Amino acid sequence: MRSNQPQTIYLSDYKVPAYLVDHVDLRFELFEHGARVHSILTVRRNPQSDDVGAPLVLDGDRLVLESLALNGTPLDGDQYEDRGDQLVIADVPEQFQLSVVTWIEPQNNTRLEGLYKSSGMFCTQCEAEGFRCITFFPDRPDVMARFRTRIEADRSAYPVLLSNGNDIDRGDLPDGRHFVTWEDPFPKPCYLFALVAGDLVEKRDSFRTRSGRDIDLRMYVEPRNADKCAHALDSLKRAMRWDEEVYGREYDLDIFMIVAVDDFNMGAMENKGLNIFNSSCVLASQDTATDAAYQRIEAIVAHEYFHNWSGNRVTCRDWFQLSLKEGFTVFRDSQFSADMGSATVKRIEDVTLLRTAQFAEDAGPMAHPVRPSSYIEISNFYTLTIYEKGAEVVRMLHNLLGPELFRKGSDLYFERHDGQAVTTDDFVRAMEDASGRDLSQFRLWYEQAGTPVLTVRDEFDADRGVYRLTVEQTLPDTPGQTDKKPHHIPFALGLLDRRGQPLPLRLADDDTEAPTERMLELTERAHTFEFHGLAECPVPSLLRNFSAPVRLNYPWTREQLLFLMSHDPDGFNRWDAGQRLAVDVIQSLVGAPRDTQVEPRLVTAYRHLICDASLDQALVAKMLQLPSEAYLIELADEADVPAIHQARERVLKHLAISLRDELVACYRRNAQDSAYDLSPLAIARRSLRNTALAWLLAINDEEGRALAVRQFRDADNMTDRIGALRALVNSDYEDDRNQALASFYQRYQDDPQVVEQWFSVQAASDRAGQLPQIRALLTHPAFDWKNPNKVRAVVGAFAGQNLAAFHQVDGSGYDFLAEQVCRLDDSNPQIAARLVTPLTRWRKFAPAYRERMRAALERIRDKPSLSRDVYEVVHKSLAG
Ligand SMILES: [Zn+2]
Repeated sequence: MRSNQPQTIYLSDYKVPAYLVDHVDLRFELFEHGARVHSILTVRRNPQSDDVGAPLVLDGDRLVLESLALNGTPLDGDQYEDRGDQLVIADVPEQFQLSVVTWIEPQNNTRLEGLYKSSGMFCTQCEAEGFRCITFFPDRPDVMARFRTRIEADRSAYPVLLSNGNDIDRGDLPDGRHFVTWEDPFPKPCYLFALVAGDLVEKRDSFRTRSGRDIDLRMYVEPRNADKCAHALDSLKRAMRWDEEVYGREYDLDIFMIVAVDDFNMGAMENKGLNIFNSSCVLASQDTATDAAYQRIEAIVAHEYFHNWSGNRVTCRDWFQLSLKEGFTVFRDSQFSADMGSATVKRIEDVTLLRTAQFAEDAGPMAHPVRPSSYIEISNFYTLTIYEKGAEVVRMLHNLLGPELFRKGSDLYFERHDGQAVTTDDFVRAMEDASGRDLSQFRLWYEQAGTPVLTVRDEFDADRGVYRLTVEQTLPDTPGQTDKKPHHIPFALGLLDRRGQPLPLRLADDDTEAPTERMLELTERAHTFEFHGLAECPVPSLLRNFSAPVRLNYPWTREQLLFLMSHDPDGFNRWDAGQRLAVDVIQSLVGAPRDTQVEPRLVTAYRHLICDASLDQALVAKMLQLPSEAYLIELADEADVPAIHQARERVLKHLAISLRDELVACYRRNAQDSAYDLSPLAIARRSLRNTALAWLLAINDEEGRALAVRQFRDADNMTDRIGALRALVNSDYEDDRNQALASFYQRYQDDPQVVEQWFSVQAASDRAGQLPQIRALLTHPAFDWKNPNKVRAVVGAFAGQNLAAFHQVDGSGYDFLAEQVCRLDDSNPQIAARLVTPLTRWRKFAPAYRERMRAALERIRDKPSLSRDVYEVVHKSLAG
């Protein structure tokens, strides 16, 4: 049992390991009632360690130790100390072999860490600290070893036996059993170890690398999913090609394998040569996956593949450096997605997530730097800050250095550190050395938490033709951090004249070759830039393409925002101007009298977007999405969720009523007229027709209803079918809603990934997802507490997306969430700790809500034997 006062781990306590493991020889005997793990470690003292005479300390979690031998001689009980979570052997030679046999019970492992069973197959998840649930080992990423793994199991139940590397031997054993031996020639930390055993079908493909090597690509799935592999394999080949072309990185083993697993805490895992995926992040067919799912799968397959270099060949020294691999790899996968589809749309999606969720994290009780300095449970640090802000930090390096020097820097990083476990500082140093630029101030992005605020003021001196722009930088306090230093910020901008033409940006009078866009660099608390030679006061287009992860304040008028919406040459800023305008209009209606007018110019602007078919339809599809409730809450000081919900609904309905005929025309213009495909235009058209449908049903339009019912029935793809379902579920047409839900379930009940979507459409809807209905979903036969996807689809979607239903003034939504967190804490603490997030932001809300949220958190805190995971999140949220 874990203690009630979990320990905090500090970066400043880091020491190099006292012992290194050069080789690991594993033998797994897999049975229905458990598994025996034989491990032979080849160990030597680390010459870099000054801790001479240190005992050998191995991590272990819930293991039964069966035997222990040093250089073949069994150790007695008084020659080692079993501390429960550590095995300590005091007297060891300079070099030795340690043989350990442990017994584990994968069939009872509901935490889904280490070795466990999912739908009858064995699989593993070892990042961050799961390997210690398999055998005793120095479970830290800076111990890198070569692994050889022999798996033994029943031949008929587990015909497929997989591990990292290349298969070097296989054969039959007595009693209907068989074995396969795998050898991975590359040293790796144990968090990249993987094992899979099951009755799986294999889909094969191949890829020829640029140096002419043929790589065997294999995907393993349950037989019922055999027709859902093509998209992942195609995505993989695109990613392999792209990484060669853009980063010069070639794949290194002869085989690359992907396995789909139903019960999985994360999205996917980059184990060397054997990536394991959550089924929902890898399986796709036209009939079962939405456009968003196709795009997500392509991005995640690429992300895990890219880790082969940024994460596996060069790994993290310790878990404080998690963003070294994640920030860089998310940046790489976002570049890849931008190259595969619409770069502007990809940027809009990334920034939407960042501004809605990461900024909220950065302003909340769990705020932490991209490289944290302490943690209690590392699983709690797989956060948007580490991933998304970490990627923004790498993107800023790309902005500051430019693509060529950035590539030079990444080449140097891979060359210098191949086979090593390193730090974020090593990454920045490689960029520094390759570019010759001083990035010492830039490093603050890794150390300081919180989102910087840029406040911009301007004035125009008509006599001199000078436009003066002052940019001030402030950094909010975050838990444990005050009085922060200014950041080094790339700030992209342009200026437009009144006709929308870009103006040359002359920073001096004699600047004749001035460009129309500049990447300015902010390093002080305040900067003033003067732009010369201007005949009129320009309209500024600031922070183009979101060149830095900051909050930007500038007193735009609605007139200027409307102007930028249609004239800004930067697609991202065009979208952003529309968002700012919509936010301004909605905010002005929060708590306002019922007869307050909705800004008529917003209607005009949206009419233009809907009707002008010459505009980039992918961008238009994004521009028509009103800011989400979650984003509006993030922007509020004391969020009154029902009031925000009402104001947003009012604007949406006003737009839908005013533009009713245009929406019907838009729907018909974008009706499917050719075979299904995944081009950006086809995706945009599906998005447009489903937006039109959603808006029409929001105002109970009869024609919209008929269109939705027909689309639901006739759709040949999941985007349209679930788009129509969602529109019906969110309408007042109760019979249609219930019929559609029943028929959808009937059709897809044997497909767990689609059933997850069916759950979340209801849980996220304020019509179908009120608390009694949510409780009913939890007792539905298809719901399964052991499956994280189902829990996320119901409990997560309710608390995270169905905000008006969750934030009830009587606190019933909060009590419900607290109850589910406590229930999950015993079986799967990682998922429980993630689920609690909406409550942790209690300070953000209006007083009536705040107190009830805090009370719910206190109830979780008082649960006996709380996991370390939930303990950390709840205590940090209640502190201060
Ligand atoms: Zn990753």
